Amino acid sequence: MKCEQGKTELAAYVMAALDPAEAVRVDSHVRECRACAGDVDEIHTTLAAVRRLPAEAMLGDWSGKLPKLREAAVRAAFAELPGDSS
Ligand SMILES: [Zn+2]
Repeated sequence: MKCEQGKTELAAYVMAALDPAEAVRVDSHVRECRACAGDVDEIHTTLAAVRRLPAEAMLGDWSGKLPKLREAAVRAAFAELPGDSS
């Protein structure tokens, strides 16, 4: 897994939004890659803020809301990450 391609996966990994097999693959990479481990820490920090969203946003029909919540969280995670050029 190339780190440059991994940040969306890392965000999904932190949110437990990956398939189990993907989660295992990302988990094993994060354990060996300090850069990605740092990104995971950043995403955790960002998600802590996302989780302060109103409860109404987290309730009801998840089938429609989850993609939007995931997109919002991923965008927030990217905004918080240091330069994406490395
Ligand atoms: Zn990496």
